Amino acid sequence: MPSDLVIVYHRQPYEEVEENGKTVFRENKSPNGIVPTLKSFFGTAEHASWIAWKLAKDPSNPEFDKVVEISDVHGDYTVSRLPLTHEQVSSFYHVSSKEAFWPILHSFKEKFNYDPVDWPTFREVNWAFAEAAAREAAQGARVWVHDYNLWLVPGYLRQLRSDVTISFFHHTPFPAADMFNVLPWRREIVKSLLDCDIVGFHIPRYAANFVSVARSMFDVDVLRREAVGDDLISDGTALSERSAPVLIGFEGREISISSSAVGVSTGFIEDRATDPKVIAAAKEVREGLGDCRLILSVGRTDYTKGGVDQLESFERVLDDHPELRGTVKLMHVSVSADRNMSAYARTQTGIEETAGRINGRFGTLEWQPIALISRAIPFDDLIKYYLAADVAWITPLVDGMNLVCKEYVAARTDGDGVLVLSEFAGAAVELNSAVVTNPFSHRSMDQAILQALDMPEEERRSRMAELRRVVKLYSVASWGEEQQRQFDDALARKAVKS
Ligand code: UDP
Repeated sequence: MPSDLVIVYHRQPYEEVEENGKTVFRENKSPNGIVPTLKSFFGTAEHASWIAWKLAKDPSNPEFDKVVEISDVHGDYTVSRLPLTHEQVSSFYHVSSKEAFWPILHSFKEKFNYDPVDWPTFREVNWAFAEAAAREAAQGARVWVHDYNLWLVPGYLRQLRSDVTISFFHHTPFPAADMFNVLPWRREIVKSLLDCDIVGFHIPRYAANFVSVARSMFDVDVLRREAVGDDLISDGTALSERSAPVLIGFEGREISISSSAVGVSTGFIEDRATDPKVIAAAKEVREGLGDCRLILSVGRTDYTKGGVDQLESFERVLDDHPELRGTVKLMHVSVSADRNMSAYARTQTGIEETAGRINGRFGTLEWQPIALISRAIPFDDLIKYYLAADVAWITPLVDGMNLVCKEYVAARTDGDGVLVLSEFAGAAVELNSAVVTNPFSHRSMDQAILQALDMPEEERRSRMAELRRVVKLYSVASWGEEQQRQFDDALARKAVKS
C-alpha cells in the first residue's frame, strides 16, 4: 500500500532478535532515543513506511526479507530494509560518514580523513534509499529524511518524484562555510539539500551556517527572516538563539530552514525517577558513597565529547584543592565505541590512561577519585545515577544537542542537583540556567566545577527549577509537534503556489 508518510532513517525502528529460531521485532530498549518519537508520527498518517538498511552477506539472496510489515503500539507500518554488504556499510558509514563528514560537522578539520572515502559507494547507497522512498511514497506524500549519512537522498528523490514534500533533519551541528567547504563533495551535498521543502537543525546557529554555506556556492535568496518569538525562554541569551524558520528561495522554489531543538520524554523520565524502586536504588548509591559527593559525567567515547579534557580539569582541581581529596568522586561513563575505528580507539586509550594516572596519583585504599565505566549503562540504571549525583558534568567540545543533560534535569524531580554544561553543546542555547562553561579554557572548566560543588542549596534549587521548566516545555513531544507544523506550512505554501 502506498504510504502518505515515509521516514528515511538509516537504522531500523526496532530491535530484531532471534527467539526459538524465529525472528522477533521488539521495541528499542532505550525509550529515550529519537526512534519512538519518529514512530509517534505514524499516528498522523493513514499508512506509513520506514526505510533502513540491514546487513546482508549476499544481497541477491532471495531469502533476504526486504520488506516487513510491523504492528506495534505505534500502529501498522511497513519497513523496507535495504540489503547492504559489509563492505558497503563500512564504506558508507564507517568511512564516508564517520571519517570524513563527522569531523567536519564537528569542526575537527585535523581529523578529516579524505583518502579512504569511496564517494561512488556513498552515492550508490543514498540512491538505494531514495529509490525505496520513491517506491513507497503515495502521491504528495511527506518524506522525512534523517541525518548526514543520507545527505544525497533528497536530490535523488526529487529526480524520481517531484510531487512529494521532503523534510530533512540534521541531528548534528552544522559548521560555518570555512569549515563545511573543506568537503570536496560540498556542492553535490548542498544541492541535494536545496531540493528539500524543509531543512531542519537543532539551533538557529546551525541553520544560519547552512544558509551561508548555501549562499557561498549557489544563488540563494533569503525571502523571509521572522522575528524571534517572545514567549519562549525568559533569558535574553536563549531568546536570541531561537527563531522562526528562515525562508529561502532557490531556482523558483521556497525552502524553509528551521531550527527546533530535540528534547527528551520528560513524562517517561519523571515516571521512572519517581518510582519508589528507583528512588531506593539511588539512595543506596548515595549511602555507598558515604560523605563523598558524586559528580556524574555520561557520554560516548568520541573525540567530540572532550573526555580527556574533563579528566584533566578534575586532576587540576584535585591538585589545587587538596581539601577536596576524599570528599568527591567522579563517575565518568564513556561508552566505548567501535574499536576498529582508530580515532575512537585513540580517544578510549586517552581516557583510560588519564583516569588511571589520576587514580594512581590521588587514590588511597579507601578512596578512588574516578570510577571509569566504558560499557553502556541501561537507561533505568542511569536514572538512579542521575538522581544520586550532586553534579552532572557535561562538557563536550562540540555536540549537536546532547540529551544526557536534559535527561539529568528531567530526572531531578526532587528539584536539587547542579548541571555544568559546555557552551558548545546545542542544549546550552536553552539551558542557560546551568553553570555554562568553555571546555577549551582550563580556567573556565576548573572554576565551573568548583562553583557547582560550592553552590548553596537555594541557588541550586532556583537554577534547577528554571532548567526543569525549559526541559519540560521543549520536550521531545513538542519537537514532534513543531516538525508536523513545518510539514503543514510547507504543504500550505505549495498549495498557494500551484
Ligand atoms: N546512554 C545510555 N547509557 C549510557 C550512556 C548513554 O542509555 O551508558 C544514552 C543516554 O541516556 C542518551 C543517549 O545515550 O539518551 C546519548 O545521547 P546524547 O544526545 O547525549 O549523545 P549522542 O551519543 O547522541 O552523541
